[in-house]
Amino acid sequence: MTTKTPITVAYGDGIGPEIMKACLKILLEAGAQIDIETIEIGEQVYLRGNTSGIEKSSWDSLHCTKVLYKAPITTPSGGGYKSLNVTIRKMLGLYANVRPANSYFPAIETKHPLMKLVIIRENEEDLYAGIEYRPTHESYQSFKMISRPGSERIIRFAFDYARKNNRKKVSCFTKDNIMKMTDGLFHKIFDEVAKEYPDIKTEHMIIDIGTARVADKPQKFDVIVLENLYGDILSDVTAQLTGSVGLGISANIGEDMAMFEAIHGSAPDIAGRGIANPSGLLLAGVQMLVHIGQPEVAAKINNAWKRTIEDGIHTGDIYNEDRSERKVGTMEFADEVIARLGEMPETLRPVHFGSEPVMHNVPTWPIRAREDKVLVGVDVYIQWEASNRDPNVLGPIVEQYAQDAVKFTMITNRGLKVYPMEFASPFYSDHWRCRYEATSAITHQQVLEIIQKFIAAGFDVVGTENLYTFDGEPGYTLGQGQ
Ligand code: NAD
Repeated sequence: MTTKTPITVAYGDGIGPEIMKACLKILLEAGAQIDIETIEIGEQVYLRGNTSGIEKSSWDSLHCTKVLYKAPITTPSGGGYKSLNVTIRKMLGLYANVRPANSYFPAIETKHPLMKLVIIRENEEDLYAGIEYRPTHESYQSFKMISRPGSERIIRFAFDYARKNNRKKVSCFTKDNIMKMTDGLFHKIFDEVAKEYPDIKTEHMIIDIGTARVADKPQKFDVIVLENLYGDILSDVTAQLTGSVGLGISANIGEDMAMFEAIHGSAPDIAGRGIANPSGLLLAGVQMLVHIGQPEVAAKINNAWKRTIEDGIHTGDIYNEDRSERKVGTMEFADEVIARLGEMPETLRPVHFGSEPVMHNVPTWPIRAREDKVLVGVDVYIQWEASNRDPNVLGPIVEQYAQDAVKFTMITNRGLKVYPMEFASPFYSDHWRCRYEATSAITHQQVLEIIQKFIAAGFDVVGTENLYTFDGEPGYTLGQGQ
């Protein structure tokens, strides 16, 4: 007797229930051995006053089954509601987001018939920390956090994925010409880890030109590893390039848990009409079956799905008068896939999944020796609007707050050094940074004394940031123009 694998299923909002029903029907007809536990997440939970969009009992189910098959949900607009997707990824430690983008030409129209790439997106860090502030009347801030272990883990995952899946190249896109510390770290670790995989070609590009090249010739790319936000944006671009965002899938992988979903949202504009394309969620279900050790059923569904789209049975989003045979709704599409279970595609390549999960082992990373960390200064942030915002008025005042070894270095406004200055800037915001640095170690007490001088003089100190060196290397950037 085959034992069934328990999985947690969330039907979601908008088109979610329609496409989930269709997908589960296909999975079960194909012989998937799954025991379904259903949880309610999303809009209704939010509207009951739960700002996280998920009840405690649902977490219990997830911790028990360790696998979530999730339809898209709607995050109600307006303040106060935290993104459930981000919460689930973080709470379950799903640090790797695997988003393949394959062309299914000639079955599905695309300008890029040879495209077959995979985006590996870091899933927990970056601007998705959602730590934001309004320190002054005019300025708003978002906290971008990139860690060495977090970067190393996702980059190793990408190389490991490439090797296991017989991929030849891993590309990395960052903006390290601007974000020298955060993106600089990601790039540096990419170069370090690459040395351990000499069998795999590597390349790094600045994200803007990298994205332009992907949009132009996606067939030149194989595996692309990115930080969270860049990966989010690029993977929607690549899904659309394959023909429709409705085809995109997202596997979220952690050390012992995983979540599988389509990349599209709850599409409220077409909800309830029975016309949504269930393919993204279905192909995510295929990945889930591989993950839970049912590769044959997974291949059976994938091949039947390919045969269906090859036969021109298309939902509205991919329907094309020249290429399609028949326009169908969500459930009719599912029935057509079911009718083809056991058949192979004729022009598209049939799939076969090995018995070993192709992407779910988690490479470990070495614990590193700690560098010598030394406190050498402080940046004091103030809101200041007096004297027509003239930095030549502010400068001589705050210069005096330097003490002994801790010298005043500069004032910046929106990152640009404005005092001492050679040229006036055309615009100053109300948010100023005053920097004090020493050439050797200082104490927290010395930092406090500088801040106290600002407060005693009546300045609105809106924040401070300590400046450290690590083995003598500054752990902070220069001001622009410094
Ligand atoms: P969306 O992806 O829901 O829709 C964008 C466009 O694509 C719409 O025109 C829609 O009709 C179409 N589309 C999407 N999926 C389709 C499918 N399967 N078949 C046919 N057409 C499809 O994006 P949106 O409109 O920006 O977001 C709607 C809601 O979804 C928002 O509340 C958003 O927060 C949520 N959302 C949820 C997830 C998730 O749960 N993983 C992801 C993204 C957005």
